[in-house]
Amino acid sequence: MPVPISQAWTVATYVLKQKMQGRKQYPLVLMLEPLYRCNLACAGCGKIQYPAHVLKRELSPEECFKAADECGAPMVSIPGGEPLMHSQIEKIVEGLVARKKYIYLCTNALLLKEKLHLFKPSKYLTFSVHLDGQKEHHDFSVCREGGYELAVEGIREALKRGFRVTTNTTLFDGADPKSVRAFFDEMMELGVEGMMLSPGYSYDKAPDQKHFLGRARTRRLFRAILANRKPSWRFNQSMLFLEFLMGKRDFKCTPWGMPTYSIFGWQKPCYLLQDGYAETFSELMETTEWANYGTESGNPKCANCRVHSGYEASGVDYSFSSLKGLLASAKATLFTRNADEGAIELLNEPITPVHSYNPLVQIDSKSDKLEETRA
Ligand code: SF4
Repeated sequence: MPVPISQAWTVATYVLKQKMQGRKQYPLVLMLEPLYRCNLACAGCGKIQYPAHVLKRELSPEECFKAADECGAPMVSIPGGEPLMHSQIEKIVEGLVARKKYIYLCTNALLLKEKLHLFKPSKYLTFSVHLDGQKEHHDFSVCREGGYELAVEGIREALKRGFRVTTNTTLFDGADPKSVRAFFDEMMELGVEGMMLSPGYSYDKAPDQKHFLGRARTRRLFRAILANRKPSWRFNQSMLFLEFLMGKRDFKCTPWGMPTYSIFGWQKPCYLLQDGYAETFSELMETTEWANYGTESGNPKCANCRVHSGYEASGVDYSFSSLKGLLASAKATLFTRNADEGAIELLNEPITPVHSYNPLVQIDSKSDKLEETRA
Protein backbone atom coordinates (compact mmCIF):
# COMPACT_ATOMS: atom_id res chain seq x y z
CA MET A 1 0.00 0.00 0.00
CA PRO A 2 1.64 3.29 -1.10
CA VAL A 3 0.02 5.35 1.70
CA PRO A 4 -1.53 4.34 5.09
CA ILE A 5 -5.10 3.08 4.88
CA SER A 6 -6.57 5.98 6.91
CA GLN A 7 -5.08 8.51 4.48
CA ALA A 8 -6.14 6.51 1.40
CA TRP A 9 -9.67 6.28 2.86
CA THR A 10 -9.83 10.04 3.55
CA VAL A 11 -8.70 10.85 0.00
CA ALA A 12 -10.99 8.25 -1.59
CA THR A 13 -14.09 9.45 0.28
CA TYR A 14 -13.23 13.09 -0.50
CA VAL A 15 -12.87 12.39 -4.25
CA LEU A 16 -16.05 10.31 -4.34
CA LYS A 17 -17.92 13.14 -2.60
CA GLN A 18 -16.72 15.59 -5.27
CA LYS A 19 -17.87 13.16 -7.97
CA MET A 20 -21.30 12.70 -6.36
CA GLN A 21 -21.69 16.48 -6.20
CA GLY A 22 -20.85 16.66 -9.90
CA ARG A 23 -17.82 18.85 -9.23
CA LYS A 24 -15.46 18.51 -12.20
CA GLN A 25 -12.70 20.82 -10.99
CA TYR A 26 -11.72 20.18 -7.39
CA PRO A 27 -8.45 20.55 -5.45
CA LEU A 28 -6.70 17.46 -4.13
CA VAL A 29 -3.56 18.93 -2.53
CA LEU A 30 -3.04 22.51 -1.40
CA MET A 31 0.50 23.62 -2.19
CA LEU A 32 1.14 26.04 0.63
CA GLU A 33 4.29 28.12 0.26
CA PRO A 34 4.61 30.03 3.54
CA LEU A 35 7.97 31.59 2.56
CA TYR A 36 10.48 31.63 -0.29
CA ARG A 37 13.56 31.82 1.94
CA CYS A 38 15.85 28.80 1.82
CA ASN A 39 19.17 27.59 3.18
CA LEU A 40 20.07 26.09 -0.20
CA ALA A 41 20.28 27.62 -3.68
CA CYS A 42 19.60 24.66 -5.98
CA ALA A 43 20.38 25.22 -9.66
CA GLY A 44 17.08 23.61 -10.73
CA CYS A 45 14.90 25.74 -8.42
CA GLY A 46 15.09 29.49 -8.20
CA LYS A 47 12.81 30.62 -5.37
CA ILE A 48 15.94 31.97 -3.73
CA GLN A 49 16.35 34.35 -6.69
CA TYR A 50 13.61 36.63 -5.32
CA PRO A 51 14.85 39.96 -3.95
CA ALA A 52 15.67 40.18 -0.22
CA HIS A 53 12.46 42.02 0.75
CA VAL A 54 10.41 39.12 -0.70
CA LEU A 55 12.64 36.48 0.92
CA LYS A 56 12.07 38.08 4.31
CA ARG A 57 8.28 37.78 4.06
CA GLU A 58 6.27 34.93 5.58
CA LEU A 59 2.62 33.88 5.61
CA SER A 60 1.21 34.02 9.13
CA PRO A 61 -0.38 30.85 10.58
CA GLU A 62 -3.81 32.54 10.27
CA GLU A 63 -3.23 33.20 6.55
CA CYS A 64 -2.25 29.53 6.11
CA PHE A 65 -5.39 28.30 7.91
CA LYS A 66 -7.62 30.62 5.88
CA ALA A 67 -6.11 29.24 2.66
CA ALA A 68 -6.57 25.63 3.85
CA ASP A 69 -10.20 26.29 4.86
CA GLU A 70 -11.02 28.11 1.60
CA CYS A 71 -9.46 25.40 -0.53
CA GLY A 72 -10.83 22.40 1.37
CA ALA A 73 -8.32 19.87 -0.05
CA PRO A 74 -7.66 16.89 2.26
CA MET A 75 -3.89 17.12 1.84
CA VAL A 76 -1.53 20.06 2.27
CA SER A 77 1.98 20.06 0.87
CA ILE A 78 4.25 22.68 2.42
CA PRO A 79 7.18 23.39 0.12
CA GLY A 80 8.96 26.72 0.09
CA GLY A 81 11.61 27.96 0.39
CA GLU A 82 12.58 25.83 3.31
CA PRO A 83 9.57 25.55 5.64
CA LEU A 84 11.72 24.74 8.67
CA MET A 85 13.13 28.29 8.40
CA HIS A 86 9.64 29.75 8.95
CA SER A 87 9.50 31.43 12.35
CA GLN A 88 6.11 29.82 13.22
CA ILE A 89 6.17 26.56 11.29
CA GLU A 90 5.19 24.51 14.36
CA LYS A 91 2.03 26.64 14.80
CA ILE A 92 1.13 26.19 11.12
CA VAL A 93 1.56 22.41 11.40
CA GLU A 94 -0.37 22.26 14.69
CA GLY A 95 -3.30 24.19 13.20
CA LEU A 96 -3.43 22.05 10.07
CA VAL A 97 -3.24 18.83 12.10
CA ALA A 98 -6.15 20.14 14.19
CA ARG A 99 -8.05 20.52 10.89
CA LYS A 100 -7.21 16.85 10.09
CA LYS A 101 -5.24 17.75 6.99
CA TYR A 102 -2.62 15.26 5.82
CA ILE A 103 0.51 17.41 5.69
CA TYR A 104 3.65 16.81 3.65
CA LEU A 105 6.24 19.18 5.03
CA CYS A 106 8.79 19.30 2.18
CA THR A 107 12.23 19.94 3.62
CA ASN A 108 15.85 19.65 2.57
CA ALA A 109 16.30 18.34 6.15
CA LEU A 110 19.40 20.42 6.89
CA LEU A 111 17.57 21.74 9.99
CA LEU A 112 15.41 18.69 10.64
CA LYS A 113 17.38 17.18 13.53
CA GLU A 114 17.60 20.45 15.47
CA LYS A 115 13.91 21.40 14.87
CA LEU A 116 12.25 18.03 15.49
CA HIS A 117 11.48 18.92 19.10
CA LEU A 118 8.99 21.53 17.78
CA PHE A 119 6.67 18.82 16.41
CA LYS A 120 4.66 15.87 17.70
CA PRO A 121 4.46 12.62 15.73
CA SER A 122 1.04 12.31 14.10
CA LYS A 123 -0.54 10.29 11.31
CA TYR A 124 -1.35 13.68 9.75
CA LEU A 125 2.27 14.88 9.59
CA THR A 126 4.89 13.55 7.17
CA PHE A 127 8.34 15.00 6.65
CA SER A 128 8.90 14.75 2.90
CA VAL A 129 12.66 15.00 2.57
CA HIS A 130 14.09 16.37 -0.65
CA LEU A 131 16.79 13.97 -1.82
CA ASP A 132 17.67 13.95 -5.51
CA GLY A 133 19.61 10.68 -5.56
CA GLN A 134 22.72 9.08 -4.15
CA LYS A 135 25.21 11.17 -2.19
CA GLU A 136 27.28 12.60 -5.02
CA HIS A 137 24.28 13.30 -7.23
CA HIS A 138 22.22 14.90 -4.46
CA ASP A 139 25.05 17.17 -3.31
CA PHE A 140 25.61 18.26 -6.90
CA SER A 141 21.91 18.82 -7.49
CA VAL A 142 21.44 21.01 -4.41
CA CYS A 143 24.85 22.69 -4.81
CA ARG A 144 25.87 21.74 -1.27
CA GLU A 145 28.57 19.26 -0.29
CA GLY A 146 27.55 17.26 2.77
CA GLY A 147 23.83 17.95 2.14
CA TYR A 148 23.01 14.26 1.68
CA GLU A 149 24.64 13.19 4.94
CA LEU A 150 22.86 15.89 6.92
CA ALA A 151 19.52 14.94 5.37
CA VAL A 152 20.06 11.24 6.14
CA GLU A 153 20.97 12.11 9.73
CA GLY A 154 17.72 14.10 10.00
CA ILE A 155 15.71 11.21 8.53
CA ARG A 156 17.23 8.71 10.99
CA GLU A 157 16.39 10.91 13.95
CA ALA A 158 12.83 11.60 12.74
CA LEU A 159 12.19 7.89 12.23
CA LYS A 160 13.65 7.11 15.66
CA ARG A 161 11.19 9.57 17.23
CA GLY A 162 8.21 8.01 15.47
CA PHE A 163 7.54 10.52 12.68
CA ARG A 164 6.31 9.60 9.23
CA VAL A 165 9.09 10.25 6.70
CA THR A 166 9.04 10.04 2.90
CA THR A 167 11.47 11.28 0.27
CA ASN A 168 10.78 13.47 -2.75
CA THR A 169 13.12 13.29 -5.72
CA THR A 170 13.26 15.54 -8.77
CA LEU A 171 15.03 14.07 -11.78
CA PHE A 172 16.70 16.08 -14.51
CA ASP A 173 18.23 15.26 -17.87
CA GLY A 174 21.49 13.35 -17.34
CA ALA A 175 20.18 11.35 -14.35
CA ASP A 176 21.72 7.86 -14.19
CA PRO A 177 18.85 5.34 -13.93
CA LYS A 178 21.11 2.69 -12.34
CA SER A 179 22.14 5.14 -9.64
CA VAL A 180 18.50 6.16 -9.07
CA ARG A 181 17.56 2.50 -8.57
CA ALA A 182 20.44 2.08 -6.11
CA PHE A 183 19.15 5.20 -4.32
CA PHE A 184 15.73 3.53 -3.95
CA ASP A 185 17.46 0.58 -2.24
CA GLU A 186 19.27 2.96 0.12
CA MET A 187 16.05 4.72 1.08
CA MET A 188 14.21 1.47 1.72
CA GLU A 189 17.10 0.29 3.91
CA LEU A 190 16.95 3.58 5.79
CA GLY A 191 13.31 2.81 6.58
CA VAL A 192 11.38 5.67 4.95
CA GLU A 193 7.65 5.05 4.48
CA GLY A 194 7.72 5.69 0.73
CA MET A 195 9.25 7.72 -2.09
CA MET A 196 7.87 10.36 -4.44
CA LEU A 197 9.26 11.17 -7.89
CA SER A 198 8.80 13.94 -10.41
CA PRO A 199 10.67 15.11 -13.49
CA GLY A 200 12.31 18.52 -13.16
CA TYR A 201 10.13 21.35 -14.35
CA SER A 202 10.89 24.42 -16.38
CA TYR A 203 10.73 26.92 -13.58
CA ASP A 204 11.43 30.38 -15.05
CA LYS A 205 13.63 31.58 -12.22
CA ALA A 206 15.86 28.47 -12.08
CA PRO A 207 19.50 29.36 -12.83
CA ASP A 208 20.00 26.05 -14.70
CA GLN A 209 17.57 26.03 -17.66
CA LYS A 210 19.51 23.44 -19.70
CA HIS A 211 18.65 20.21 -17.96
CA PHE A 212 14.86 20.07 -17.79
CA LEU A 213 13.56 16.90 -19.39
CA GLY A 214 11.53 16.91 -22.61
CA ARG A 215 8.50 14.57 -22.82
CA ALA A 216 10.19 11.76 -24.77
CA ARG A 217 13.27 11.80 -22.54
CA THR A 218 11.05 11.78 -19.46
CA ARG A 219 9.30 8.62 -20.66
CA ARG A 220 12.63 6.95 -21.50
CA LEU A 221 14.24 7.81 -18.17
CA PHE A 222 11.26 6.78 -16.03
CA ARG A 223 10.77 3.56 -18.02
CA ALA A 224 14.41 2.66 -17.33
CA ILE A 225 14.01 3.48 -13.63
CA LEU A 226 10.56 2.11 -12.86
CA ALA A 227 10.25 -1.00 -15.05
CA ASN A 228 11.40 -4.34 -13.57
CA ARG A 229 10.69 -2.84 -10.16
CA LYS A 230 11.95 -4.47 -6.97
CA PRO A 231 9.14 -5.62 -4.65
CA SER A 232 10.83 -3.84 -1.74
CA TRP A 233 10.39 -0.34 -3.27
CA ARG A 234 7.45 1.66 -1.90
CA PHE A 235 6.12 4.81 -3.55
CA ASN A 236 3.98 7.31 -1.70
CA GLN A 237 2.06 8.59 -4.73
CA SER A 238 -0.45 7.61 -7.38
CA MET A 239 0.67 4.43 -9.15
CA LEU A 240 -1.14 5.64 -12.28
CA PHE A 241 0.98 8.79 -12.24
CA LEU A 242 4.09 6.57 -12.26
CA GLU A 243 2.65 4.69 -15.27
CA PHE A 244 2.10 8.09 -16.92
CA LEU A 245 5.76 9.01 -16.33
CA MET A 246 6.82 5.69 -17.90
CA GLY A 247 4.72 6.46 -21.00
CA LYS A 248 2.27 3.60 -20.31
CA ARG A 249 -0.77 5.90 -20.23
CA ASP A 250 -1.65 9.48 -21.00
CA PHE A 251 -3.49 12.09 -18.93
CA LYS A 252 -4.57 15.68 -19.43
CA CYS A 253 -3.21 18.21 -16.98
CA THR A 254 -5.44 19.17 -14.05
CA PRO A 255 -3.70 22.32 -12.76
CA TRP A 256 -6.53 23.02 -10.29
CA GLY A 257 -5.74 19.65 -8.60
CA MET A 258 -2.81 21.16 -6.71
CA PRO A 259 -3.45 24.89 -6.33
CA THR A 260 -0.67 27.05 -4.90
CA TYR A 261 -1.02 29.71 -2.21
CA SER A 262 1.94 31.91 -1.28
CA ILE A 263 2.79 35.38 0.02
CA PHE A 264 1.54 36.71 -3.35
CA GLY A 265 -1.88 35.00 -3.16
CA TRP A 266 -3.38 32.15 -5.25
CA GLN A 267 -1.06 31.52 -8.17
CA LYS A 268 -2.50 31.18 -11.70
CA PRO A 269 -2.65 28.53 -13.03
CA CYS A 270 -0.25 26.24 -11.17
CA TYR A 271 2.89 25.86 -9.07
CA LEU A 272 5.14 26.28 -12.13
CA LEU A 273 3.68 29.19 -14.06
CA GLN A 274 3.03 32.67 -12.80
CA ASP A 275 0.25 34.12 -14.96
CA GLY A 276 -1.02 36.37 -12.21
CA TYR A 277 -2.56 35.87 -8.77
CA ALA A 278 -6.06 35.73 -7.30
CA GLU A 279 -7.03 36.99 -3.87
CA THR A 280 -9.29 34.07 -3.01
CA PHE A 281 -9.52 30.42 -3.97
CA SER A 282 -12.96 31.00 -5.57
CA GLU A 283 -11.50 33.81 -7.66
CA LEU A 284 -8.67 31.51 -8.77
CA MET A 285 -11.14 28.84 -9.87
CA GLU A 286 -13.53 31.26 -11.58
CA THR A 287 -11.15 33.65 -13.33
CA THR A 288 -8.37 31.34 -14.57
CA GLU A 289 -8.67 30.42 -18.26
CA TRP A 290 -7.95 26.73 -17.63
CA ALA A 291 -8.33 25.85 -21.33
CA ASN A 292 -5.11 27.78 -22.00
CA TYR A 293 -3.04 25.28 -20.02
CA GLY A 294 -1.92 21.67 -20.29
CA THR A 295 0.14 19.96 -23.00
CA GLU A 296 -2.85 19.65 -25.35
CA SER A 297 -3.63 23.40 -25.11
CA GLY A 298 -0.78 24.38 -27.43
CA ASN A 299 0.64 26.65 -24.73
CA PRO A 300 4.43 26.43 -25.29
CA LYS A 301 5.05 26.82 -21.55
CA CYS A 302 3.21 23.52 -20.99
CA ALA A 303 4.68 21.62 -23.96
CA ASN A 304 7.14 19.44 -22.05
CA CYS A 305 5.47 19.37 -18.68
CA ARG A 306 4.81 16.04 -16.95
CA VAL A 307 5.22 17.14 -13.36
CA HIS A 308 3.29 15.83 -10.37
CA SER A 309 1.57 19.16 -9.66
CA GLY A 310 -0.21 18.94 -13.03
CA TYR A 311 -0.65 15.23 -13.57
CA GLU A 312 -0.72 13.37 -10.27
CA ALA A 313 -4.21 14.64 -9.50
CA SER A 314 -5.20 13.49 -13.03
CA GLY A 315 -4.17 9.95 -12.07
CA VAL A 316 -6.18 10.07 -8.84
CA ASP A 317 -9.22 11.53 -10.61
CA TYR A 318 -9.05 8.82 -13.29
CA SER A 319 -9.00 6.11 -10.59
CA PHE A 320 -12.41 7.30 -9.35
CA SER A 321 -13.98 8.18 -12.70
CA SER A 322 -15.04 4.70 -13.77
CA LEU A 323 -14.78 1.00 -12.97
CA LYS A 324 -12.02 0.85 -15.59
CA GLY A 325 -10.05 3.52 -13.72
CA LEU A 326 -10.54 1.75 -10.39
CA LEU A 327 -9.36 -1.57 -11.83
CA ALA A 328 -6.36 0.10 -13.48
CA SER A 329 -5.43 1.69 -10.17
CA ALA A 330 -5.83 -1.57 -8.24
CA LYS A 331 -3.75 -3.44 -10.84
CA ALA A 332 -0.97 -0.80 -10.75
CA THR A 333 -0.92 -0.97 -6.93
CA LEU A 334 -0.91 -4.76 -6.63
CA PHE A 335 1.29 -5.70 -9.59
CA THR A 336 4.24 -3.34 -9.39
CA ARG A 337 6.89 -5.41 -11.21
CA ASN A 338 6.30 -3.95 -14.72
CA ALA A 339 8.52 -6.55 -16.43
CA ASP A 340 10.12 -5.00 -19.52
CA GLU A 341 13.15 -6.49 -21.37
CA GLY A 342 13.67 -3.30 -23.37
CA ALA A 343 14.02 -1.26 -20.20
CA ILE A 344 16.94 -3.47 -19.07
CA GLU A 345 18.74 -2.47 -22.25
CA LEU A 346 18.06 1.19 -21.45
CA LEU A 347 19.84 0.69 -18.13
CA ASN A 348 22.94 -0.44 -19.95
CA GLU A 349 23.11 2.54 -22.30
CA PRO A 350 25.98 4.94 -21.66
CA ILE A 351 24.87 8.17 -20.01
CA THR A 352 26.52 11.54 -19.82
CA PRO A 353 26.39 12.51 -16.18
CA VAL A 354 25.53 16.15 -15.59
CA HIS A 355 28.66 16.36 -13.40
CA SER A 356 30.99 15.87 -16.39
CA TYR A 357 30.00 19.07 -18.08
CA ASN A 358 28.89 21.11 -15.11
CA PRO A 359 31.13 20.72 -12.05
CA LEU A 360 29.77 21.11 -8.51
CA VAL A 361 29.61 24.71 -7.47
CA GLN A 362 29.14 25.54 -3.81
CA ILE A 363 26.73 28.46 -3.79
CA ASP A 364 27.13 30.82 -0.89
CA SER A 365 23.45 31.41 -0.16
CA LYS A 366 22.73 34.88 1.18
CA SER A 367 19.58 33.42 2.75
CA ASP A 368 21.68 31.93 5.55
CA LYS A 369 22.25 35.44 6.74
CA LEU A 370 18.63 36.56 6.56
CA GLU A 371 16.86 37.01 9.83
CA GLU A 372 13.72 34.97 10.49
CA THR A 373 11.11 37.71 10.32
CA ARG A 374 7.39 37.75 9.76
CA ALA A 375 5.58 39.57 6.96
S1 SF4 B 1 1.04 21.44 -18.07
FE1 SF4 B 1 -0.20 21.93 -16.26
S2 SF4 B 1 1.18 21.73 -14.48
FE2 SF4 B 1 2.45 21.83 -16.33
S3 SF4 B 1 3.00 24.01 -16.52
FE3 SF4 B 1 1.14 23.68 -17.76
S4 SF4 B 1 -0.58 24.14 -16.40
FE4 SF4 B 1 1.23 23.90 -15.10
